[in-house]
Amino acid sequence: MKSVWAETKQKKFGKSLTSNIQRDIVIVGGGIAGVLAAYFLTESGKKVTLIEAGQIFGGVTHNTTAHITAQQGYIYSELAKNRSIEFASLYYKSQMQAIEKFENLVKKLKIDCDFERVDDYLFTIEQPKKLKKLYDVLTKVGANVKYSENKEILGFPVKAVIQMRNQAMFHPIKFLNGLNLDFEIFENTRILEVDLNKKILYTANHNIIADKIIIATNYPIINLKGTYFLKLYKSQSYSVITNPIKNIKGMYQGDLENGITLRNLNNQIIIGGLDHRTGRNDSEHKFEQLEDIAKKYFEKAKILNRWSANDTVTFDGLAITGLFSKKYKDIYIITGFNKWGMANSMASAQLITDIITEKKNIFEEIFSPQRFMFSLSSFFISLGVSIKNLIKPLLIPLNTHKKLKADTGGIVWYNFRKRAVYKDAQNKLHICSPFCKHMGCQLTFNANTKTWDCPCHGSRFDIDGQIITAPTVKPLDKIPQKNKK
Ligand SMILES: Cc1cc2nc3c(=O)[nH]c(=O)nc-3n(C[C@H](O)[C@H](O)[C@H](O)COP(=O)(O)OP(=O)(O)OC[C@H]3O[C@@H](n4cnc5c(N)ncnc54)[C@H](O)[C@@H]3O)c2cc1C
Repeated sequence: MKSVWAETKQKKFGKSLTSNIQRDIVIVGGGIAGVLAAYFLTESGKKVTLIEAGQIFGGVTHNTTAHITAQQGYIYSELAKNRSIEFASLYYKSQMQAIEKFENLVKKLKIDCDFERVDDYLFTIEQPKKLKKLYDVLTKVGANVKYSENKEILGFPVKAVIQMRNQAMFHPIKFLNGLNLDFEIFENTRILEVDLNKKILYTANHNIIADKIIIATNYPIINLKGTYFLKLYKSQSYSVITNPIKNIKGMYQGDLENGITLRNLNNQIIIGGLDHRTGRNDSEHKFEQLEDIAKKYFEKAKILNRWSANDTVTFDGLAITGLFSKKYKDIYIITGFNKWGMANSMASAQLITDIITEKKNIFEEIFSPQRFMFSLSSFFISLGVSIKNLIKPLLIPLNTHKKLKADTGGIVWYNFRKRAVYKDAQNKLHICSPFCKHMGCQLTFNANTKTWDCPCHGSRFDIDGQIITAPTVKPLDKIPQKNKK
């Protein structure tokens, strides 16, 4: 289960860290956010070292659908309601400037990454009034949009649609491969702990003393300090790509079949969505659902590839970029892209560069980690989920591993202990500790992806307990199989 971008050979950039070092600016996390921040800081004359647990661009960025767009669901209605039209306008401007920056870089560095300016269509089959309200906000914000009712989109009828002109899409890995990465990179080097006062980062065998630290690990790896565990959660999405069918000319998002996105890629169609909070899976058939959608709306569709990943979500829908906490000088954070990480990573990388080089940036306030960002209802829902899953370790499993069918997993009894057990197609057991190493929540099995997912903060592990996604910095304890039956 690899994303469509996995077919593109990724450049190898780094070696692993093999000694203690002291550096100026250390960025943790080699996704699009960390890499772009490193790129702009280097361009501004700073010395940067990037530390990546696996291979750079290998995280969520490797699983994106790569719409670079300012059209982001109903965010502008929310911002206009909860903040002001001026605030919504500023956010729109940040996203449009980011798209322009992508285009400028592609031209300047002559990056062959299928970058294409296209329109983005947000449609509804259920809530035309809500979409019309959004349109009214968008016109006030100054967006280049057109609103129509009772139209056909890709051959199916919709109640209303907003066409936002001149957005973009690209091939993210070709783009990142094409950047001049003229800074020090250590790959396969996982940071296990950060001393925020002394500015020391610890790996299993070495340490790095830094002047400044930027945490760009998608979900921050620092547990309690900064209280980000109360401000963020992770949301899972699923994607498929069809065989070549036709050029659907652009990008689409809407409430068709509970929310999906579509885009063109060389006449193939990438369909994504079916989001849910990580660890709270409501169906074992997410990919089949996407396949059904593809076949229903595109007669000749066959699914060639399927993949899934999770992104970090904030309560107010805005990214968090800036000083990690007023208490700690020289520690910065980039997180919370809410599934709109293409434009937001560009905006955030430029913002963090301006903050560090002490240049004015008009977007500092909207992305400030110190802003008030709670909607009380979402906050309490999130707190409730965390408490429930922290209590779950006290509950007793209902079944033993013997009840598991082949190719399924569950929290069960194994040798008189509660374990996370996956029984593979050959009936071999893969046994791990059932508690997330981040904050101890009980994991759930995602049958769609065959992974152990944490419902509290979204860490994910493979069936043998290896880390797929932060915030965890430690794999699950692997339990040896004692009894083959
Ligand atoms: C299925 C899906 C589809 C999406 N589609 C779109 C879209 O169409 N348009 C859009 O704008 N956005 C989209 N997004 C969102 C976007 O892809 C993400 O917001 C963005 O890629 C996140 O980039 P990142 O750099 O924050 O994270 P990542 O790419 O995950 O980078 C973080 C890096 O940190 C590393 N790391 C973690 N822990 C440590 C550690 N302890 N030490 C060292 N390194 C560490 C990880 O290995 C990883 O490489 C989508 C997201 C998903 C899940």
